[in-house]
Amino acid sequence: MTAKKPFENFLINLRAASKTIGLSDSALKALETPEHIHETEVEFKLDSGEMRKVPGYRVEHNSARGPYKGGIRFHHEADLDEVKALASLMSLKCAVVNIPMGGGKGGITVNPKELSEGELERMSRAYFRWGTEEGIFGVNRDVPAPDVYTTPQIMAWMLDEHEKVLGYLSPGVITGKPLELGGSLGRSYATSQGGFFVLQKYLERTGKKPEDTTVAVQGFGNAGAYFAEIAHKAGFKVIAASDSKGAIVCDSETGSFDVEQLSAWKKEHGSLRGNFCEGDTCDLEKMKLESVKTMSNEELLELDVDVLCLAALDGVVHEENADNIKAKIILELANGPVTPEADAIMEAKGIAVIPDILANAGGVTVSYFEWVQNRSGDVWAEDYVIGKLKTVMENSFTDFMNVKEQYNVSYREAAFVLGVERIVTAMKLRGTI
Ligand code: NAD
Repeated sequence: MTAKKPFENFLINLRAASKTIGLSDSALKALETPEHIHETEVEFKLDSGEMRKVPGYRVEHNSARGPYKGGIRFHHEADLDEVKALASLMSLKCAVVNIPMGGGKGGITVNPKELSEGELERMSRAYFRWGTEEGIFGVNRDVPAPDVYTTPQIMAWMLDEHEKVLGYLSPGVITGKPLELGGSLGRSYATSQGGFFVLQKYLERTGKKPEDTTVAVQGFGNAGAYFAEIAHKAGFKVIAASDSKGAIVCDSETGSFDVEQLSAWKKEHGSLRGNFCEGDTCDLEKMKLESVKTMSNEELLELDVDVLCLAALDGVVHEENADNIKAKIILELANGPVTPEADAIMEAKGIAVIPDILANAGGVTVSYFEWVQNRSGDVWAEDYVIGKLKTVMENSFTDFMNVKEQYNVSYREAAFVLGVERIVTAMKLRGTI
């Protein structure tokens, strides 16, 4: 597989969109350059009493449309290049769904699985204390959220640390919080629900019915499992799913997994294949799930399905496997799962790639709703949250398709053009370009 280069990939897509709309050099330069890059060494005490230091980042890309918004990830491969790319994509994502927020992202280079709960708490608090004391995080300035390996509990520790430094409550400084601390109903499945609303709108145009639509999901984690459940409930045929241990595919006679059963199975056994598979062979009798076949994660990507939902890692569809993809639609719930090289191949093959900055924007949209509720002291009912999310996602899909038709560009480029145009309009109104 080709080496990952997330910020370069962002620049390739940005420059293509900029050429299409004839963006000025000053506007392009502004979008190529994050407004602020903050770096630190996060120092915290280990259970042994020793101190440990790990690299921490917060990148603030663009605030022309509102406060910086974007998650914090804890991952041993998180680095400045990745955080810059994700912060930049956040600016575009917020603009594509037309919410009044800018783009930011944070990260700590650490393997959180190596830390005890106490160590995780001390590290999370140290990071947020740094960001608060430096004046980075603030309800009207920069509002983080969870991302890879960061949870509502971690958001709670970070909020508490922020408020200790300030000396007063400020729940809107961070989203994705537990409900008891001002989290929003509907946030846990908002990304998947938002992606599903967009997919439904796309399918309406093709006239394809749910019962005739097969779906494979790569990454049966938070985003992927909720998506599979929502699609299954709506009558779609979810025929394959994978996690880091491998893929399972249902027998053609079954027609669809019972996704609730699959989720319960994964919860009980820790992975889709439980402890009953070795390599690509499973003990089906012991699994007692349904008739299943196993396959590798790579093979799942190449299944002949209507919808391939990518909800695991970035860069999984690349130059070397793009020719083998047979799905008709790719829904990017993960960030950056299709590389620019593979995008060009998908476009030539007529495969619709519904891009991450639209497909997974339901998460940040409900995070924005959480921020609004915290600032107004209100608590919205779940139906109200999901109803508002539906309106945002459907309107964004319409805007996105209008741009695609206006400029006759790829799906990815249409989303970039829509986001760039909205940010540039805001920068012009401010007189910053
Ligand atoms: P998660 O950790 O809950 O789930 C990831 C899943 O992918 C896990 O089940 C893991 O086992 C699986 N996986 C890992 N390697 C795999 C492989 N090689 N093949 C198949 N599966 C593999 O994470 P998540 O929150 O669901 O996020 C997934 C992606 O979606 C990330 O790119 C994230 O940035 C993006 N995303 C998530 C949200 C959200 O609200 N959760 C919002 C926007 C974007």
